[in-house]
Amino acid sequence: MNQNSKHHSSNSLALHALEARWLVPGLPLGAVLEQHSVIVEEKRILDILPTQQARQRYPLAQTVVLDNHVLIPGLINLHTHAAMSLMRGLADDLPLMQWLQQHIWPAEKRFVSERFVRQGTLLGCAEMLAGGTTYFNDMYFFPNAVAEAAVQAGMRANIGLVVMEFATAYAHDAEDYLQKGLQARDEWRDSALLSASLAPHAPYTVGNSTFENIVTYAEQLGLNIHTHLHETRTEIEDSIKQYGVRPLQRLESLGVLGPNFVAAHGVHLSKAEMALLSAHGCHIAHCPASNLKLASGIAPVDALLKAGTNVAIGTDGAASNNRQDMFAEMRLAALLSKGNSGDAASVPAAEALAMATINAAKALGKESELGSLEPGKYADMTAVSLAAAELQPCFNVISHLVYSAGREHVSHVWVAGELKYQKLQGQVGVYANIEPAELKEISTEWQTKLSQYLA
Ligand SMILES: [Zn+2]
Repeated sequence: MNQNSKHHSSNSLALHALEARWLVPGLPLGAVLEQHSVIVEEKRILDILPTQQARQRYPLAQTVVLDNHVLIPGLINLHTHAAMSLMRGLADDLPLMQWLQQHIWPAEKRFVSERFVRQGTLLGCAEMLAGGTTYFNDMYFFPNAVAEAAVQAGMRANIGLVVMEFATAYAHDAEDYLQKGLQARDEWRDSALLSASLAPHAPYTVGNSTFENIVTYAEQLGLNIHTHLHETRTEIEDSIKQYGVRPLQRLESLGVLGPNFVAAHGVHLSKAEMALLSAHGCHIAHCPASNLKLASGIAPVDALLKAGTNVAIGTDGAASNNRQDMFAEMRLAALLSKGNSGDAASVPAAEALAMATINAAKALGKESELGSLEPGKYADMTAVSLAAAELQPCFNVISHLVYSAGREHVSHVWVAGELKYQKLQGQVGVYANIEPAELKEISTEWQTKLSQYLA
């Protein structure tokens, strides 16, 4: 699986040519190229051109033939808590606050450790990678452990340095969270796959002075701010009782809003609030499955897009979804927006794909490096096989990607030009850097521990 070991010996540049039946570069929106090749040099895309020309121009390139496949930008999950894959199905069919306060927080209090986070994140990475996701925007305790797992899996991660006011196994108060997070970032800031954002958990778990500190650090260090926002009606009602204003207004007055601000959910927003988000250049991480499962509501995606806000897609953690499956979220986002707005043209397939790729790259300030297939950008790519009966015939590949295909059709995933996952037809998927035995050990260990706790 390590491509470096088998590149053409007479070709010092280690060129790879991915010959795709279809290529969906992501930009321009809706573009589909047939019989095109992506030429990869080291970590980046060198060229995109018709395959016939590619064979003449790059005769020494090592070829990967994708003759039944569509090649797309690697999917970007804009909001998750990857380690929560260990708590999948632990508590279902409950509203957010009951789910959090009576089930998730007590379980986290009992079990979350560096080992839990590293192992849970690795399991989450395995799921995401096999589903075509190459980059995830995370928020959880022990960010060093998240970093370690992402690097092992070979995935790109933007790691949220989580901040809350109350004590956990990770930190004892907001200042402690902040300092631990910043120290963790210092340890891996030179890693090519990792970046960081400050991640105040939510307006209801973080106080005013902490938000002000976070804004100062974000400005000084050039970091994004990632938080949960306007997820439920209760959150808004409680904020009015406690602070006299809705959470978004409070964050505005604290100086939190700006083009580096990524808000997960945004389910309950007034017209004026949508205009405010747009005016500040903020980004929404839309998590449709999680919002439905916790009965939080349906985010007004159609209105947000019309207001000019950048909307991308996240899965949220596996404890509230319960899948880390960007194909499922793309389809759901497109369908929900149509049903919710009464407009079948709302979030067409190409836009849903953009919400899972370039829009997310934009939200993380990485749109010049990631999110579409263009020369100069990192070669983060996913190949989807359209050979299966349920995907035949095919008149519009983007329609198939969003409405018909699923993560089970993902055949290859590259991150920075390296093949990190591959599933040949009729075989099980193989990871470059994750052994099946390791995943089995992780699931057995936590299955035992959590089962005893739940019993
Ligand atoms: Zn979340």
